Amino acid sequence: MTDKRKIDGFVFDLDGTVYLGEKALPGAVEAIAELRRRNKKTLFVSNKPLEPGSKYAAKLTKIGIPTPTEDVITSALVLGYHLAKNEPHLRLYVVGEESLRQELRGHGLNVMDEVEGQDDKNVIDTAGIDAVVIAFDRTLDYRKINTAYQALMRGARFFATNADKVCPMPGGAIPDAGATITSLEYITGRKVELLAGKPSGLMMRVAMQRMGLPPERCMMIGDRLETDIRMGQEAGFATAAALTGVSTRQDIARMTNPPDFTIETLADLLSLTE
Ligand SMILES: [Mg+2]
Repeated sequence: MTDKRKIDGFVFDLDGTVYLGEKALPGAVEAIAELRRRNKKTLFVSNKPLEPGSKYAAKLTKIGIPTPTEDVITSALVLGYHLAKNEPHLRLYVVGEESLRQELRGHGLNVMDEVEGQDDKNVIDTAGIDAVVIAFDRTLDYRKINTAYQALMRGARFFATNADKVCPMPGGAIPDAGATITSLEYITGRKVELLAGKPSGLMMRVAMQRMGLPPERCMMIGDRLETDIRMGQEAGFATAAALTGVSTRQDIARMTNPPDFTIETLADLLSLTE
């Protein structure tokens, strides 16, 4: 059990932890305000590469949690940040939506346009593509899959923003990046080599850098055990599973490596820290 006095940075999952749909979850607004009043740092993470961090910051602000864009970390931002720092020369082919292309270009990265003038029903010449980036893409089509496949078969690097199988939606769920990654892995016999979003440690590293804190002074709070909690544990953070989303006490009881804390609502955080 982590010494409660040591936690100075709180990293929150969004959906199912801070809000659900357009509404703040019970206790979230008050708890985050009180943590900030105690001079704790608060950050928010999302695996969705569909919208810029500014959109999430605006949404949080609208529901009563005033948040600057810098305090939101998306999988798109993490990928852009990591590649700009470590592989800035790579020419990227992006299977993703426009917001992701803009995010990556905003980090100074070289994002290629669609290969034009070639029949997407044939083998596409992908000369010039150094790396393929797979993301949640609701505009996915055969040309993109074919281009990514050809580039990967020619040895292009294989990156992804996030690996969620599906994205929960009102009335069910829709296919997410995990579906595209798995199909490309299947047909190429290759494995994605870099995952930016949860449960990757990269996201936690960016969070620690933003807060300027070592892992033992940070806590990850989320509703998904296999992503939020696992990611926090692997990064050496304290972890709190919130029962406001997809997980139940029974799910937590079955874990071999359970979170440090289980909380009914974010208000419970206040008694865990000074
Ligand atoms: Mg969640």
